Amino acid sequence: MKKKHIPTRTCVGCRTAKAKKDLIRIVRIPDGSVQFDPSGKISGRGAYICSSKACFTKAVQAKQLQRALNTNIAPEVLEVLEQQLDD
Ligand SMILES: [Zn+2]
Repeated sequence: MKKKHIPTRTCVGCRTAKAKKDLIRIVRIPDGSVQFDPSGKISGRGAYICSSKACFTKAVQAKQLQRALNTNIAPEVLEVLEQQLDD
C-alpha cells in the first residue's frame, strides 16, 4: 500500500507542525492587506496558524506573524482577524 503524503505547516503561534488542513492560512495580498484564506488559494505571502486566539496573540506578540508575512499589521486589522478565531 502506498503511504499517503500529508502536507504539514508550522503554526506561527505555537510553532507546532500540523497537517495543513488543520491550520488556517493568513495571506498578505499584493495591495498589502492581510486576511484569512480558508480556501488556501489566494496568492500572496502566507502564514499558517491554529484556529486559536491564544496562538494568534502569541504570534502577534512575538512578531512571528508580522515576520512571516513580512509586513506590519494595523491593530484594527489584528482585531478583526482575532475575532474570527476560536477562544
Ligand atoms: Zn498554534
